[in-house]
Amino acid sequence: MNGPWYEEGPSALWAPYCQMKTAPAPLPVVATRGCRITLADGRELIDGVASWWSACHGYNHPHILDRVQAQLSVMPHVMFGGLVHEPASVLARRLLAIAPGAMSRVFFSDSGSTAVEVALKIALQYHKNLGRSGRDRFVCFSDGYHGDTLGAMSVSDPEASMHRAFRDVVTKHLVVDLPRDSQAVRSLDAFLGANAGRIAGMIIEPLVQGAGGMRFHSAETLAAVRELASRHGILFIADEIATGFWRTGSRFACDQAAVVPDLLCLGKALTGGVIGMGATLATDAVFQAFLSDDPELALMHGPTFMANPLACAAANASLDLFETEPRAGQVSAIEATLREGLAECRRLPGVVDVRVKGAIGVVQLEPGIDVRAMRPRFIERGVWARPFKDIIYLTPSFVISQDELDRLTRAAREVVAGT
Ligand code: PMP
Repeated sequence: MNGPWYEEGPSALWAPYCQMKTAPAPLPVVATRGCRITLADGRELIDGVASWWSACHGYNHPHILDRVQAQLSVMPHVMFGGLVHEPASVLARRLLAIAPGAMSRVFFSDSGSTAVEVALKIALQYHKNLGRSGRDRFVCFSDGYHGDTLGAMSVSDPEASMHRAFRDVVTKHLVVDLPRDSQAVRSLDAFLGANAGRIAGMIIEPLVQGAGGMRFHSAETLAAVRELASRHGILFIADEIATGFWRTGSRFACDQAAVVPDLLCLGKALTGGVIGMGATLATDAVFQAFLSDDPELALMHGPTFMANPLACAAANASLDLFETEPRAGQVSAIEATLREGLAECRRLPGVVDVRVKGAIGVVQLEPGIDVRAMRPRFIERGVWARPFKDIIYLTPSFVISQDELDRLTRAAREVVAGT
């Protein structure tokens, strides 16, 4: 190579979520620290996305780096079939201790999508193991999104999601609207009553539907659908991959509705955003259905990098930080600043809604406004934000300073106002 790596002819990469023919070239990044991203040309951006909500403690937190480095020199990886290690064993116990209700087992995998795949597989097999045949469908919600693998795509909104092109390929599940009043709850109750014999589970992003457009629903709605699932013998799967670990203002979104799921999916901030990892937690009732003298009843799943020790070390260090640093207070302070800083957007032309929950701030624009075209205008203001669909959103790291957060909300106001 003669010049810097990013000047070497056409890239060998295939980038995410974009039309490669027309998408602008991605920005070369050389370093991260705290809430800042350093670009190859020396510019520094304040991060409003926290790497798709994962970097909750900011980048390069010394405690996480220290724990991962220590683990790296001892045992970067070892297979998990027939072997077990301390970082995974400790992490599983710690997750069970903080999970809503009394969950009893943790299955580790590589990412959020795989955590969802594992949950779907467990739910299907749970009913089969109990001799309830025909329960092979899931209830999922309009505007829901659960990942990019085929099973996860099949329980995402088939019409509104970016996986629309696959709607005739993936298994067709039962897609319903979130019930937002008592009449809608009654209709869903009747629907579930009529279909329960073919339903294995219900999957939901509690309180905030992320990739579907950062749409919020109430704790009452969440509690109501959980209650319906219990009543009809349907396993309730909470996908807290995006909402978990304080993003919505409580440790888990389920906590705000006192909801205890049968299966809980975690990812993203699980490792503080440092390494990919997914976790699927199950209640004892679910786990018991897999115990038998019949080997056919076992869960046949085991990713090569399951419970990777580096990922476990990062996750354990991340949990340390939630215990030792004031994350809950930081999230409420961020919530207050987002509310105040984004409120003015309500008066700007083209704005349909401004909403905030925990460390999530959203400005929704009228349909037809090209929000992607706003991306460079954030960069010009020294801010990293990625408007999509019809929204501009801010999901900063919890350690963001007041000044940095003010710069994010100011940039949002200016970009929306077109000034
Ligand atoms: N579920 C939800 C709610 C998500 O937001 C995401 C990621 N955006 C996933 C699942 C998939 O996670 P991953 O990208 O780690 O596979």
